[in-house]
Amino acid sequence: MSKKSPRRNFIKLASASIGGIAFAPAISGKKTSIASGKKLNIVCVGAHPGDPEFGCGGTMAKYADAGHSVTFIYLTRGEAGDPNKTYAESAALRTKEAETACKILNAKAVFAGQIDGNTILNKEKTEDMKKLILAENPDIVFTQWPLDSHQDHQVTGLLALTAWVRSGKKFELFFYEVNTGSETMAFVPTDYVDITSVRDKKKAAMYAHKTQAPEQTYNDYFKTLEEFRGLEANVKAAEGFVHFKENQTAMMGL
Ligand SMILES: [Zn+2]
Repeated sequence: MSKKSPRRNFIKLASASIGGIAFAPAISGKKTSIASGKKLNIVCVGAHPGDPEFGCGGTMAKYADAGHSVTFIYLTRGEAGDPNKTYAESAALRTKEAETACKILNAKAVFAGQIDGNTILNKEKTEDMKKLILAENPDIVFTQWPLDSHQDHQVTGLLALTAWVRSGKKFELFFYEVNTGSETMAFVPTDYVDITSVRDKKKAAMYAHKTQAPEQTYNDYFKTLEEFRGLEANVKAAEGFVHFKENQTAMMGL
């Protein structure tokens, strides 16, 4: 088995500013500015407080540490998370947790105002998402892979995908995974980010979500996933992404 697979790409976060990290090759595509060293606007869209942090907190920490601007758009405030609390109580608690996590990662929190467990995908909501995303003037948007057992995750991924299409594909689009095996389905990364140096920071952001049993979730699941994706990318810990390109079509040769 070869140590290097030509199929595996590392996302190039910035040119020289990261220092010492083997990102190669650079993201290919129309936005060559990604590798130019300019300050980038990064947006990460998630269904619930915690999804962006758990799915790509390491990558977001690296972007922020390198001086780029990072915004998390939470579709809901996690209203339905606890049957013993009212929606208002849960929303207040989980909004605070999300804000604490964002502070740790040096990201800005934006809330899209949909309701946990009852998210909607229609023309109006797609327009709302497009406006929220474009307000950040993003170079790159990360969102949830829409093949998922949780309907809110499906809606989130499709809202961002449709916003990308309707805005003329003016930013790069990447999908991230959460709870692969029980939630994210059929996810095969095309790109990886080495998060070894920011594992502790990501862990602190995940642990900010105290209502989400973070210790158990981390030890039973995300720690293993980071190491599994790390094995695939030949580093200690990594996050994996699907880079959705403008032209994914390949003829099958039949
Ligand atoms: Zn979620």
